Amino acid sequence: MTPTNPFTLEHELLRQSFRQFIEKEITPNIEHWESNKICDRTVFQKMGEHGFLGVGFPEAYGGSGMDMWSAVVITEELAYANVGGLSLSLYAHTYLALPAINALGTEEQKQQYLVPALKGEKIAALGITEPGAGSDVGGITTRAEDKGDHFIVNGSKMFITNGTLADVIILAVRTGEDHNLSLLLFDTKTPGFSAIAVHNKLGMHSSDTAQLFFENCVVPKSALLGKQGHGFYYIMSNFQEERLIACVTGTAGADLAVQKAKTYMKEREAFGQPIAKFQALRHKLAKMVVNVEACRSMAYRAVAEYIEKGPEAYRIISMAKVFVGEEAFNIINESLQIHGGWGYMEDYGIARLLRDFRLLNVGAGTTEVMLEIISKVELDEVSHKKQIKARI
Ligand SMILES: Cc1cc2nc3c(=O)[nH]c(=O)nc-3n(C[C@H](O)[C@H](O)[C@H](O)COP(=O)(O)OP(=O)(O)OC[C@H]3O[C@@H](n4cnc5c(N)ncnc54)[C@H](O)[C@@H]3O)c2cc1C
Repeated sequence: MTPTNPFTLEHELLRQSFRQFIEKEITPNIEHWESNKICDRTVFQKMGEHGFLGVGFPEAYGGSGMDMWSAVVITEELAYANVGGLSLSLYAHTYLALPAINALGTEEQKQQYLVPALKGEKIAALGITEPGAGSDVGGITTRAEDKGDHFIVNGSKMFITNGTLADVIILAVRTGEDHNLSLLLFDTKTPGFSAIAVHNKLGMHSSDTAQLFFENCVVPKSALLGKQGHGFYYIMSNFQEERLIACVTGTAGADLAVQKAKTYMKEREAFGQPIAKFQALRHKLAKMVVNVEACRSMAYRAVAEYIEKGPEAYRIISMAKVFVGEEAFNIINESLQIHGGWGYMEDYGIARLLRDFRLLNVGAGTTEVMLEIISKVELDEVSHKKQIKARI
């Protein structure tokens, strides 16, 4: 580990063993999952058996106990394998849903959900977005009516990753007016619940995206995650890890696009010479390399600050999310250009990268929302930090 290389020998060993796992268990299946528009449950089980889902989680619950850099290793390797859809499903489980159970769950809740989820026996999802409210988390309308010892949940959620596969959903519900939201550990066997797959996506084809419906679902009070009414602040805090993962995956995806461009430039000939001899393309490639390094510096700095400060690192995380989201997509787009007509085909994997990575500017907080957070900090209007501090 050095200031420019945060990885230890332990991280590198994890990287090697995960690469072997990808080659054996993921790469041979990916085309099948992409065309089926969903991955298999078995991939979660296999990831769990090998300990790859528990990376960064406490050993007491079946995790590896390793640090956040180990999660970076897993994330990077999935991006280098060009399996965006599957990665999204795995992230939704491991880095969107499970951190909330780990941070807020009671011992009983952790035994019931976190332990089997880290083994890949139960699949988790995070349900915040609704048909009428995405960026505006405070505008969600799915309501949990307090009936004393239980809640009655009614409403609907949209674009939920792992929506049809999930056994448990960290569900954001309204329990009062304004920002009075709560999180529930919602068991998908609850009567009144249904999920419909959303298949008409631009990319991320091997991930399961769904619309969820809740009709008079009876949920026991014991399913409350954290304190009632504090859900908004929990959600804001949980977003930071999700955004970091997006920055790391975006950087590795852009790096993959550069590697593909380099190989192609040496192989492909035009006008009697390799296209690598054309200065216009050489300079394009050089700029792509510079921008990948800039993305990596920002993403790694955001991870380092998160390790030090937790959710309070939101300023650099928001900045990295904007920068990497835009640059990674531009780099992948330039790589497609270097591949010419073949880049537009499925053969070189660039088309899939472009489709999948377009989500970076939309998911986990849009670019505009990130810019809004940054401008609030810069103009001293921020209340977010105080809210997080006060409520967690
Ligand atoms: C493939 C996929 C998987 C997803 N998985 C999940 C999941 O697992 N769980 C989950 O809860 N959600 C999930 N989402 C939802 C995703 O997080 C939302 O789509 C995203 O937060 C944006 O919300 P929205 O779609 O409602 O857009 P809107 O919020 O309606 O935004 C529309 C436009 O308005 C802009 N805008 C909104 N507010 C502001 C503002 N204050 N200032 C400036 N501009 C603004 C936005 O930037 C955007 O350009 C997923 C989405 C996709 C596409």
